[in-house]
Amino acid sequence: MDIVALKTAVAADIDAGHDDLAVVSRKLHAHPEVAFEERRAAALLTGFLIKKGFAVEKGICDLPTAFRGTYGKGTPVIAFLAEYDALPKLGHACGHNLIAVASLAAALASRRAVDALGGRIAIFGTPGEELYGGKAIMAAAGAFDGLDVAMIAHPGGGSRVLMNTLACETLKVEFKGVAAHAAGAPELGVNALEALIQSFNAINSLRQHIRSSERISGIITDGGEAANIIPAYTAAELIVRAENDALLDALEKRVIGCFTGAARATGAKLKYSWGERYAAMVSNVALAKLFHENMRSLGHPVDLGENKMLYFSTDVGNVSQLVPAIQPMVSIASSGAMIHTPRFAKAAATPEALLIMLGAAKAMAMTAVDLLADPANLKNIRGEFRKTMKGV
Ligand SMILES: [Zn+2]
Ligand SMILES: [Zn+2]
Repeated sequence: MDIVALKTAVAADIDAGHDDLAVVSRKLHAHPEVAFEERRAAALLTGFLIKKGFAVEKGICDLPTAFRGTYGKGTPVIAFLAEYDALPKLGHACGHNLIAVASLAAALASRRAVDALGGRIAIFGTPGEELYGGKAIMAAAGAFDGLDVAMIAHPGGGSRVLMNTLACETLKVEFKGVAAHAAGAPELGVNALEALIQSFNAINSLRQHIRSSERISGIITDGGEAANIIPAYTAAELIVRAENDALLDALEKRVIGCFTGAARATGAKLKYSWGERYAAMVSNVALAKLFHENMRSLGHPVDLGENKMLYFSTDVGNVSQLVPAIQPMVSIASSGAMIHTPRFAKAAATPEALLIMLGAAKAMAMTAVDLLADPANLKNIRGEFRKTMKGV
């Protein structure tokens, strides 16, 4: 089998599918659905996969908008991860419409590689990346067990193949106090807002004594009803981030200490709950190098980058702890627009952005060819993964 010819053919398959893929991207972008409400997106993507010969299971891991599509038999299993949730109010300001289409394109084009070389392609529909860590839930349910590698490409304001990201967890906090007339009888009140303000001030003090890579951010979601009533109920939402699980465990304890201290000081009752944990992302360098070389050969050079920490979080981290994984970031916004902004949402709808992400899809499908054609590649990747995971 001529590997170069096979790679050229899978890339050509993506060019041939351009118009259909453009329709999918436009539909996703025009009807943004937030985390766990991606019903139209899941229906659109699974319908497309079924038509193209994939075996599809919908609603896996008790998540109605998650799915798995597979093509081929046996091993190895090369997986592509699709995301398709939008941001509240901002629409597709993280470009997940393009992530979905790139993984869809890569999976469809990889059919040719499976037909020629054997093995299996899997595409996972992974909902709720922005708010609930859908991949964390799917990882815990065993969805990613038995995969050999996982790939996903993310549009961005800059390009790099390697990236590691922070582990994070969302914290929801409530204080219950006692309402009273703010002027007539303040001595009868227990002030739930003061409890929150003291907590936030304690966290501000804590920030002086945490690692420079750690992050604590938050908002008050309920601050009381009226200025002449001592607030009887307040609520806040925070995100706490650190480089790995052990550091995050330790930081979470210190953050909770800020709230329990304020509860004691004010007499307000504290209730809190943690959300799904997004694990730290660990990129596989050997896999990243194959993707990088394929991008270069297509005439889309991107920086390999260094395997160092970027200060945000993704639930691809949870996959990367189980399976060798990469999440290359590919620049679609020549203006340097940042993700999670209205400008980026606009950029994610352009034909130019789609072409760039389909370039990344070609490189992912060509990487699948590398993995199916030469077992030495997978051996390298697995060797590195075992070594890295020992250190985590
Ligand atoms: Zn995002
Ligand atoms: Zn994103």
